Amino acid sequence: MKVGIDLGTTYSTVAKYDKQTSKTEVIPNIFGKELTPSVICFLENGEIMIGEDAKDMQAGGAGIIAASFKRGMGDTGFNVEAYGKTYSAEQLSGMLLKQLITDAENQTGEKIDSAVITVPAYFNDFQRTATIRAGESCGIKVLKIVNEPTAAAISYGYNHSTDKTVMVYDLGGGTFDVTIVKISGGNITVVGTDGNHLLGGKDWDAVITKYVCEKFEEEFGVDPREDESTKNELIVAAENYKKVLSKADNVAIQVKYAGNSGKYTLTREEFDVKTQQLLNATRDVIINLMDELQIAWSDIDEVLLVGGSTRMPQVSEFLKKLTGRNNVIDHADTDLAVAKGAAIVSELYCSDKHGLSEHKIVDVTAHSLGALSTSVDGKRYINEIMIKKNSNVPVSVRKPFKIAEGNMTDKIEVYTLQGEGKNPLDCYVLAKVVISGFCNIGDGAIIDIEYTYDENGVVQVNAYQDGEMLDVEADPVPEDISWMGEAPGARPSDVPIARNIVICVDLSRSMKVSIEEVKDSIRDFVSSVSNDTTKIGLVGFGDKIKIIRDLTEDSNMIVTALDELKVNMLGRGTDASPLGTALSMLNGKPGAKMILVLTDGIWGKRDNAVGEAQMCRSAGTAIVAVGFAEADTAFLRQIATVEEGAMFTTLDRLGETFSTIAMAMNTGSMGLRESTGEKARLKR
Ligand code: AMP
Repeated sequence: MKVGIDLGTTYSTVAKYDKQTSKTEVIPNIFGKELTPSVICFLENGEIMIGEDAKDMQAGGAGIIAASFKRGMGDTGFNVEAYGKTYSAEQLSGMLLKQLITDAENQTGEKIDSAVITVPAYFNDFQRTATIRAGESCGIKVLKIVNEPTAAAISYGYNHSTDKTVMVYDLGGGTFDVTIVKISGGNITVVGTDGNHLLGGKDWDAVITKYVCEKFEEEFGVDPREDESTKNELIVAAENYKKVLSKADNVAIQVKYAGNSGKYTLTREEFDVKTQQLLNATRDVIINLMDELQIAWSDIDEVLLVGGSTRMPQVSEFLKKLTGRNNVIDHADTDLAVAKGAAIVSELYCSDKHGLSEHKIVDVTAHSLGALSTSVDGKRYINEIMIKKNSNVPVSVRKPFKIAEGNMTDKIEVYTLQGEGKNPLDCYVLAKVVISGFCNIGDGAIIDIEYTYDENGVVQVNAYQDGEMLDVEADPVPEDISWMGEAPGARPSDVPIARNIVICVDLSRSMKVSIEEVKDSIRDFVSSVSNDTTKIGLVGFGDKIKIIRDLTEDSNMIVTALDELKVNMLGRGTDASPLGTALSMLNGKPGAKMILVLTDGIWGKRDNAVGEAQMCRSAGTAIVAVGFAEADTAFLRQIATVEEGAMFTTLDRLGETFSTIAMAMNTGSMGLRESTGEKARLKR
């Protein structure tokens, strides 16, 4: 059997759709109730109660209670500790789902194998994925994740088959959402959604609490809110007074505190005036969305009320005034509509084994998704929006990004940001992935980044270079992201990345007069660039080539190896090019790769060298060519990766030249930028 499950913050509901009768029905729990409290109670003896029993225990103050855990979905910091065990929100939701499924199976005598589960429209990737996993942990297949307002619209639209555009006004206990949906021939197209997730019924309760406490203080000179437990009792009582006002014209409120007892009457009229600004806040969200979607009131056929707080008569009155029409529909079963909608989706909107479904739902993204990037002037980090809010899902967007010139990184970090603002710190950092396996020689390589939102609202990041798919690995988001508000480059490296340098020294006859000074300069260079993550190798060349030392982290070995260098030891001329040998030494090494060539003469087989330099370029290996005396500058330019990497100098300035190269490695010029933590210098 397939079911729809409304996994709510306070209550959950299971429903099924009967294809024979075309009717939806709620499957009651073992107590015969349609709504099961989303509460779990852990007892010291190891017993775990879920639902109705747990709610009773909560009222009695026994055991350890887990409630409202839906709010912690996808949040690794949310845990409930109970008698030595820790439960995440996902595990708690899994336990609740298991109970809901078992109850429904017992009631119907049928096995449940798959379900559609609803989530708030604003749930992000983590929260949706956590919901899917919670469902799968009970051994069922999660057919689809559907947004709650969409499910409500489906449940409503299914019974009202004429084509129309409906605005779903969903005011719950702690959140407000507005969703505009087109219903046409059984197909549901969500046009857009927006919300204020800090606004809900609790704010109406707070108005009542404030009112009575101020009255009490006026009368007795003390504010009952000074005492935490009196304040909590008043907040709970206020919710009940509010519900009374949904039916009656006024409510009598009694407050006892510090030996005093006050009695006050609040009329619905006063309550409506005092809470007007809260309704106005919902209006702001609606108007924003309509502006964004360029929809006028004349385009909206009906406003559908969903969520417990829409039971307040002020809501429909307010909306009638706002729309200027009498088209506000009270959803008769506001508590059950979401589960019923999910049940309809499970039968009619999910593909069967032939990949077919009777109807289609086109939903939208509730947030924009962006990638952390740098501004055009390179001065700050920005949120480069990839998928705009209210895009239809599924959706895939690919955009080219440029790695900063001179940055020789072989890894790119992509931070997925959720939010509308340009400033990354105004956004929620959803995820981080590290992209590797691309070719980058520091000349501004282009990497295509692709974001995909699937039908369940789950996000996937892929990357390509010249159409070839690159490796993408998930990485934990660092706790401290304050650097996103600073200038790019200010961020300390969080992963020390390896760099590999092969130094190739010309040992032909012409070096005779200068070899000792050359060795001294290389010694200084080696000690200034060496660190735990730098490997250096040494190659001598003349008419032949010799690897004097293979790549090593031990800089002393290189310093000692320099003593082995002798002029003419590899022939008197320069017929061999060391670039191919150096490239094979660097092949497959993780991190930045560079070849430093030092020569003072004209090479015999220059074409070979230029060909090998080309191979180095393709393999992402940078070449810096340092020449002095007779060296040919045009040739040096041909083999160097970037123009500044061809350096012509004099013997007495050789040391200075090497220091420049060492510095360039840290500043990113000459194509020598090592891969530091600043990998995400993506530029559009
Ligand atoms: P929901 O999250 O949709 O279950 O909505 C819960 C919110 O609806 C809570 O703030 C309740 O106080 C509120 N609510 C439920 N029934 C009523 C009612 N009759 N009048 C006013 N608010 C209500």
